[in-house]
Amino acid sequence: MTLHSATINGRPVNGEKSFSVLNPATGEEVGRAPNMGAAELNAAVAAAKAAFPAWSAKSDAERQAACAAVTSRIEAHAGELAELLTREQGKPLNGLGSRWELGGTVAWAGYTTGLSLPVKVLQDNEQGRIELHRKPLGVVGSITPWNFPVMIAIWHVMPALRSGNTVVIKPSPLTPLATLRLVEIMNEVLPPGVLNVVTGDDSGEFNLGGAMSAHPDIRKIVFTGSCATGQKVMRSAAETMKRLTLELGGNDAGIVLPDADPAAIAEGLFWGAFINNGQTCAAMKRLYIHEAIHDAVCEALVAYAKNIPVGNGLEEGSILGPIQNRVQFDKVSRLVADAKSRGKALLGGAAGEGLFFPPTIVAGLSNGDALVDEEQFGPALPVIKYSNVEDAIRMANDSPNGLGGSVWSSDIAAAKEVAARMECGSVWINKHGAIQPNAPFGGVKGSGFGVEFAEEGLQEYTDIQVVFA
Ligand code: NAD
Repeated sequence: MTLHSATINGRPVNGEKSFSVLNPATGEEVGRAPNMGAAELNAAVAAAKAAFPAWSAKSDAERQAACAAVTSRIEAHAGELAELLTREQGKPLNGLGSRWELGGTVAWAGYTTGLSLPVKVLQDNEQGRIELHRKPLGVVGSITPWNFPVMIAIWHVMPALRSGNTVVIKPSPLTPLATLRLVEIMNEVLPPGVLNVVTGDDSGEFNLGGAMSAHPDIRKIVFTGSCATGQKVMRSAAETMKRLTLELGGNDAGIVLPDADPAAIAEGLFWGAFINNGQTCAAMKRLYIHEAIHDAVCEALVAYAKNIPVGNGLEEGSILGPIQNRVQFDKVSRLVADAKSRGKALLGGAAGEGLFFPPTIVAGLSNGDALVDEEQFGPALPVIKYSNVEDAIRMANDSPNGLGGSVWSSDIAAAKEVAARMECGSVWINKHGAIQPNAPFGGVKGSGFGVEFAEEGLQEYTDIQVVFA
């Protein structure tokens, strides 16, 4: 089976060992990735460190041109990357699947290319001139998860490169192949060492992500993944005072107010919860519906959900695929079994073949039930009936996480009032999970800190230097 090479200092590296990457739709091996250790990590960091002086010394226009060339290369290979992504991740080519992810990847790369951080004059008068400069940090370590491996890689890498840093990226062992290919493609137009990739299988004694978080020559870690791993990253990064952006898990709530129109919101509710099979940080993971329209909203949601085809992502008709991996599948199965014993499954509820699990909606639940309290990260939506909006807000905020939230109503002003009281980094009205490259995105509370996207996201890859002239 094909071994996909890593790229260090512009050259392919295979390492001595490799690990297998499986297609979740079939269980077959898609390919193998290098199983790297400390020697390869050190080589990648050394290459990035050596490339930093020349890359950071380039003019802003030169770096912008290089990032534009990178964006064009990704766009030219989008079809190939989408297919590889479907094979290893499971998400369908169609719907909000891998072609959509590649479209987003190109859009984010292009938008980030257009951003810049010019010198800001804070004061210029007889008392003197004060300028605020933004300086790149050095080597940035990027650690990514398995749910949107290509798009998240670009969310990390492009702002880091655009602002003058060099990068070592480490994808999830469950979905490393599209990232290996992405980095190879980007290296066609980047100077050697500016962007390097390492892969490891997370088993055994050496943990690549952990070693990156502690590495003395890495100046910042941008991490997207679970809260538990994010805490480990923060601990190991403390020793070397690394800058951190932590985009962690969420348990987003949606609140449907009594005046919402069930038929009008059903499609938005469904995709808010089930995008990428619910394996999305900012998917709606709990739905609070007012008792006056509870049954009507559930009926409309189930009616919409019933028609969504689930199957092998390589088949053009599939709109949702399998759960990505066995650990996640077992977690969803456990939580759904528990939820069914406490409430009523309105749709789905029983595992299919292999790693397939149909969209599942369980009503009659409340805070305190595991499917409501835990980030299920799968195709299972718990529904909670409420009678008083104050209670709904309290229950929505009763979570250690604070990534996103949504309010559904025909009265935008009323919805905005409720939205303002939700403890989360993004809040949507009559939709859930929408993100754009010109709007900063990040979590509050246990969902992490720092933001991505837009100028605020770019700033996170720099230190401030104030010049008193
Ligand atoms: P994970 O935390 O298991 O793994 C994330 C990455 O960390 C992987 O590359 C993994 O190899 C690496 N890693 C493992 N051990 C490490 C260690 N000790 N130190 C450093 N890195 C280590 O997460 P996952 O299961 O891949 O992804 C799912 C989680 O990611 C969910 O909780 C989801 O909500 C979250 N997520 C958040 C966002 C966001 O923007 N907030 C986006 C996508 C996913």
